[in-house]
Amino acid sequence: MKSFREYLYFETANRVEFINITPRVQEIVDKSGIKEGLCLVNAMHITASVFINDDESGLHRDFKVWLEKLAPHEPVSQYAHNGLEDNADAHLKRQIMGREVVVAITEGKLDFGPWEQIFYGEFDGQRRKRVLVKVIGE
Ligand code: ZN
Repeated sequence: MKSFREYLYFETANRVEFINITPRVQEIVDKSGIKEGLCLVNAMHITASVFINDDESGLHRDFKVWLEKLAPHEPVSQYAHNGLEDNADAHLKRQIMGREVVVAITEGKLDFGPWEQIFYGEFDGQRRKRVLVKVIGE
């Protein structure tokens, strides 16, 4: 079995942002040379997510509004975690949007359903963060 590992780096302009990382993940799969296997993609930070959903701007707005209702950023004093930090809401948002995804690789391609795309979800941005991509298989 072969294995291949690479990081993707992000420094978003906004505090909350969703980025379609599918082409970058497929590039890593291509580089790995693995044709049949699995690809794990996970955020290395506890205030960011990796998730799969539709690349549709209305839906992304809906996610942001929904998450803000569940865990409003302000007032930051409402959270026990916020003492030296102000990112309790980002930890909660990350938890619900998930840490990682695993996608099958078939004939060298990410084997998705019709509308599936991989996203990096940032909830406490404007600083450098990374995502691990690990590919295993033959
Ligand atoms: Zn924190």
